[in-house]
Amino acid sequence: MENEYLRGILETVKRRNPAEPEFIQAVTEVLSSLEPVIAQRPDLMEAGVLERMVEPDRQIVFRVPWVDDSGKVQVNRGFRVQFNDALGPYKGGLRFHPTVNLGIIKFLGFEQVFKNSLTTLPLGGGKGGADFDPKGKSEGEIMRFCQSFMTELYRHIGKDVDVPAGDTGVGSREIGYMFGQYKRITGEWGGVLTGKGIPYGGSLVRTEATGYGLCYFADEMLRANGRSFEGQTVIISASGNVATYACQKATELGAKVVAMSDSNGYIYDPQGIDYRDIKQLKEVERKRIREYLSIRPHAEYHEGCSGIWNVPCDIALPCATQNEIDKEGAEALAANGCYAVAEGANMPSKPEAIEVYFANNMLFAPAKAANAGGVATSGLEMSQNSTRIPWTAQEVDAKLHGIMRSIFAACDSAAREYGMPGNYMAGANIAGFLKVAEAMKAQGCV
Ligand code: NDP
Repeated sequence: MENEYLRGILETVKRRNPAEPEFIQAVTEVLSSLEPVIAQRPDLMEAGVLERMVEPDRQIVFRVPWVDDSGKVQVNRGFRVQFNDALGPYKGGLRFHPTVNLGIIKFLGFEQVFKNSLTTLPLGGGKGGADFDPKGKSEGEIMRFCQSFMTELYRHIGKDVDVPAGDTGVGSREIGYMFGQYKRITGEWGGVLTGKGIPYGGSLVRTEATGYGLCYFADEMLRANGRSFEGQTVIISASGNVATYACQKATELGAKVVAMSDSNGYIYDPQGIDYRDIKQLKEVERKRIREYLSIRPHAEYHEGCSGIWNVPCDIALPCATQNEIDKEGAEALAANGCYAVAEGANMPSKPEAIEVYFANNMLFAPAKAANAGGVATSGLEMSQNSTRIPWTAQEVDAKLHGIMRSIFAACDSAAREYGMPGNYMAGANIAGFLKVAEAMKAQGCV
């Protein structure tokens, strides 16, 4: 990073947050993209916009006590980071995973600010979660944990204040338990959480939205570069919410998905994976991906999830977690003919992996643009809750598709305008930044 002002901001972030490598990584990527913007917009520098943007509005850390099935008290740590509300109420998911810590939640919250800006909807950015592992827990344990989590969280959120949603480990089951507890404590039935069940205020297509949106964005990027999903071989890491519906949409757009994974290993099915098998296995039966072989015995299972990047493909859709593709993984993709990577997970590519993509002229769709379909549809759920008029699946899907098209157009034109055509990562960072920056400047030093 050559710009002295930006380097100074990064140094401050590193000094203030020494134990948060993922947060520093996310800030570094954004600041690096902003060099040409800062050169042209000294007014934003004078307004101290960036200094304020890298510091969350507030960080809430709390105890989550709950009683397990054997009657023993367990304690987890809960988080909600309200990062930036310049554009609207804080909005961003809750993650329940044993690896959750403050730095992870801050990187996710920081990314969310730019992502939500790109959706064109009036949404600020935030993120939360807990270091709770839902794996192997009974229904009763999950419910008691969610109720305890909400017993603290409720005082910090509200339909016009902060509207959490799901993320890794938090699906409609967990949202349902948290919504019930919020209602019980406050006596208020409102759109305070998104990703709710359809009978009680959820939006059709919200479950599928991140995976569908990822493929809509990737499709725009491919078409802008004279390609499409038609006849292409695709690999998708993970088999969770985002991965499952990315598999469905990529297949509908004419691709063949040959590999998927979980944190233990990956499956390879040369005949093409049917998303309905994955949905049944992972969403309904909550089994491991290796069980796929009991449905499709001709497929292969390999231990170790990172081996999936060695499977030859045209397009890779990483949909598991942060930093899942390292330099070696990216090199294996490039060596085997992969020409496009579109990120479904948040920050799945390490900086060294992104360098490999660019060095090999691969198309690269960065997470904060490509996976914005989930939060965009959460925004549509908020609209439906406010007006109390639900839309049909076709209406929501059409709006989602339109939003993903406009996000691609914004990334594409910002990249061109600032002299980096085809660099959608820089385009996403710049387009997302400018809208928040203008709003912060207009609202004064707050
Ligand atoms: P889910 O909980 O539904 O699924 C997570 C999947 O990722 C599982 O297959 C899980 O495997 C795998 N996984 C988790 N951690 C690791 C790891 N350390 N190594 C390898 N695999 C891992 O989560 P989602 O699909 O909702 O989220 C996936 C990613 O997408 C996250 O980065 C999330 O932030 C991002 N995202 C999600 C959105 C949404 O709407 N849900 C919106 C935007 C982004 P296992 O079962 O073995 O743990």
